[in-house]
Amino acid sequence: MALISIGIESSADKLGVGIVDSDGNILANNVRTYKPGIGNGVIPRDAAQHHSDHVPNLIKMGLDEAKINMNEIDIVSFTQGSGMGPCLRVDAVAARTLASKFNKPIVGVNHQVAHVEIGRLIGKMEDPVVLYASGGNTQVITFTEGRYRVFGETLDIPVGNCLDVFGREMNFDNSSKPMGAIVEEKARLKENFVNLPYVVKGFDISFSGILTAAIKAVKAGNSVHDVSHSLQETVFAMMTEVTERALAHTKKSEVLVTGGVAANSRLKEMLSIMSEEHGARFFGLPAPTAIDNGAMIAWTGLLMHQNGHKQSLEDTLVRQHYRPEEVEIIWRN
Ligand code: AMP
Ligand code: MG
Repeated sequence: MALISIGIESSADKLGVGIVDSDGNILANNVRTYKPGIGNGVIPRDAAQHHSDHVPNLIKMGLDEAKINMNEIDIVSFTQGSGMGPCLRVDAVAARTLASKFNKPIVGVNHQVAHVEIGRLIGKMEDPVVLYASGGNTQVITFTEGRYRVFGETLDIPVGNCLDVFGREMNFDNSSKPMGAIVEEKARLKENFVNLPYVVKGFDISFSGILTAAIKAVKAGNSVHDVSHSLQETVFAMMTEVTERALAHTKKSEVLVTGGVAANSRLKEMLSIMSEEHGARFFGLPAPTAIDNGAMIAWTGLLMHQNGHKQSLEDTLVRQHYRPEEVEIIWRN
């Protein structure tokens, strides 16, 4: 009989509750996003307050949608890290409460590993090179020598944050859409390309200098459309270059892009052209499972549990700097 897992994710600005079964069916996957006031970035304490206000309802909504009750759940999974401390504590407390009240095993999941595992499930991929591009992370991750290794990553801010801060500086109205999607729309109206710094160091990339240069370029009189376009072209080309290097180095045959920035058509176009040149299959994960969500945590928790992972309630402290390399990937070894 299939096992059922509930997964709670609240590592950053989103709260997610997902329910999946061991056949890979997603029975529920709801997300609520904390929205800081206009012009502000995420304030961790406020985000955590938002998450704890909504977590009971989102759990109830998930159970209703999946048409089950807590007694029919087999395991309780939560994001143990990485992420913002106050935010992570919300999913950990909710999971501990459910696990002890209903006497279920608890599984603490690594956030990045979960992004990769849900991508493998939905994209039907065996062993991809993964570009994880979001508001809080930018990493190229792939499975080598028994672990998920970070091949390359940002040396400063994440790509999503770069786009978000640029949009905020430009006073783009993101009340109804993510900022990155607005930058993408503005970029479509471009006429010219504006040169911006291109910063790749080995497998690593850096965005903060480009962000400053882009803001300056607008102040110097270039159109916001041209700069939005040039910013996208530059940062996406950098990420594609690093992903290509990992692909060439590992000789894998699949490329997956995930994270909120994976919604961008131009990024997917660049990655798919690059993958095709290497004879690799490319898959862009659709938003519901690419953004931070509970289903990815529930699914990865199931993989861990089914392969013998055991965890005590005492061992569920959150880990803000939890790296994917630290996780023993028992289900693939
Ligand atoms: P996540 O951190 O995975 O929840 O993703 C949120 C990030 O994705 C934010 O930085 C958004 O601005 C970004 N994002 C969402 N849609 C798009 C898009 N169409 N193009 C680029 N970035 C996007
Ligand atoms: Mg994420």
